[in-house]
Amino acid sequence: MKKAFTLSVFILACTARLLAQDATVYSPDKQTVLTFKLQGGKPEYAVTYKGKTMLQNSPLGLQSNEGDFASGMKFLGKADGNVDQQYTLDRAKASQMHYVANKLTVDLENSQQRKISIVFQVSDNNVAFRYELPIWKETRSCVIEKEATGFKFPATTTRFLAPMMDPTAGWSRTTPSYETPYTADAPLVAAKPHQEGYVFPGLFHVGNNGWVLVSETGVRSLYCASQLSESSADGTFNIKYPNPKQNNGFGSTGAAIALPGVTPWRTITVGTDLKPIAETTIPFDVVEPLYAPSKKYTYGKGTWSWIVWQDPSMNYDDQVKFIDLAADLKFEYILIDALWDKNIGKERMQELIKYAHSKGVDVFLWYNSNGPFNDAPMGPHNRMNASVERKAEMKWLREQGVKGLKVDFFGGDKQETMRLYEDILSDANDYGLMIIFHGTTLPRGWERMYPNYVGSEAVVASENLIFSQNVREAEAFNATMHPFIRNTVGSMEFGGVLLNKYLVKSNTKDRKRLTTDAFQLATSVLFQNPVQMFGITPNNLTDVPAFEIDFMKQVPTTWDETRYIDGYPGKYAVIARRHGDKWYIAGINAQSAPLKLSLKLPMLSGKTAKVYADGSDRVTSAKDLTVSKNGTTNVVIQPGGGVVMVGQ
Ligand code: CA
Repeated sequence: MKKAFTLSVFILACTARLLAQDATVYSPDKQTVLTFKLQGGKPEYAVTYKGKTMLQNSPLGLQSNEGDFASGMKFLGKADGNVDQQYTLDRAKASQMHYVANKLTVDLENSQQRKISIVFQVSDNNVAFRYELPIWKETRSCVIEKEATGFKFPATTTRFLAPMMDPTAGWSRTTPSYETPYTADAPLVAAKPHQEGYVFPGLFHVGNNGWVLVSETGVRSLYCASQLSESSADGTFNIKYPNPKQNNGFGSTGAAIALPGVTPWRTITVGTDLKPIAETTIPFDVVEPLYAPSKKYTYGKGTWSWIVWQDPSMNYDDQVKFIDLAADLKFEYILIDALWDKNIGKERMQELIKYAHSKGVDVFLWYNSNGPFNDAPMGPHNRMNASVERKAEMKWLREQGVKGLKVDFFGGDKQETMRLYEDILSDANDYGLMIIFHGTTLPRGWERMYPNYVGSEAVVASENLIFSQNVREAEAFNATMHPFIRNTVGSMEFGGVLLNKYLVKSNTKDRKRLTTDAFQLATSVLFQNPVQMFGITPNNLTDVPAFEIDFMKQVPTTWDETRYIDGYPGKYAVIARRHGDKWYIAGINAQSAPLKLSLKLPMLSGKTAKVYADGSDRVTSAKDLTVSKNGTTNVVIQPGGGVVMVGQ
């Protein structure tokens, strides 16, 4: 019976091959397999890992104003190839990359005899694919209106997704800004559909088969960013273009492209466990630098008064205190946040920046991005949204010796907004400025594409710990998600490490922090961003243990290697990162009971490490610990607590 079945499958497979309507591409280690099929004129693909289904037959294709490329398609042919590329990256989770992939190009033709290619690149544990559109006789441009592209998961799958924000509902019309939390292990098909869909990346737990992370990379001025739709009843999530209501209703959804042209890459990372997901570099592997850096950019740590001391601190004297704090901490930067234009003014800013330089501290300045798109009252306004004003401002910034900008309040994924991101980055490089984005979309390969890009918020960040009791209560829960979801595909400028017991200037009574000091220290390693603005305040120099301040003086913000150690999103996370020859292992626990873990740390076997951990009284202490020769170490992480081990 089994033999007959196998034989009939074989015959079917041969028939399909004769019709040349299917194609398969394997990863170099043969474990990740992508199969392409044309079913009744509709292109489809499926992904398996170690023989297990990760994505079932999922739709492909797109619709343009020059024709439909999702149905009525004819198979023209296929080509195999491979990619082998080494590159370095100084601002992401790892520094020396080696991308090896097998490549499959499928050529299709629509009912108007217009050709389109789908390019799949399959590396170990990663699939990237995109559409490539040639010139169609005299037609040299088109508008992509919609995609059929989807991701169909087996019914046993649970999902970890964050809803896309409604463009009309947020504060001062600044949404969507990727500032909604992820839900853990939700049913694949939602009981209550969310019309706006979900942001990238999305994580899926495919029952016993493993894990799948879906994301997008290579989005720049030449395309819109996209999202995942709500799932259909069969567990398919489709690519969804921006809601036309974004950007105050201005600007089109979809993408206007010149031909020949390409879509962004969509990426699928698969694994039996979360290791390939926490360690993936696929967002950077398939993109290229778009221009050379105009100078050598220096990354590092910064102080910022706004996070704990808030708007009243946006004055000259308080900024001096945070410059002095940065100098005491040996941090490279101060971030001077919103309202400096009004409360300090450009004249006195020159003096303030000079003062910072006299203390060996460099300056990041905040800007509101908005021209016509939102109502956020904080300035400076209207300096970043138009080329003429932007270049004049950047010239002034360069003259003052400012090193970087934090540009806030974008609120949209339309191609219109992607152009603004790229224009700001490209102009800033001309003036030697680094750029951090806040109130913003997910970065999609930007660490490699733009050499002066140094981070994006796009997360329920530290400001929400100040604003909301709910977020304080969910702090540990949210934090355990990031190494496996948001932060694994791109830099995350969280603005964390809050050492005040109460998240107010007086450090008393109000807004009690619910996580331990060791938890806060752990986030400096767990959350990756090449420039980190930390929430330390001047009082912390004397009111927290000296070893905590010493740790913050030493902790790096750039990494040569990242290793998954243990974790389950929503419960706990343990990640190891290497800077030079020093390893930092950081763990946090979001569960209500102390978590006992036996960690395998081969990088520290037989070595003595400094360990920062909490006692059962939730008080953090530091001690030396020798890791056993076999690299196994037992740790206990308190609820809402953390552990950091540093060794070399
Ligand atoms: Ca924000």
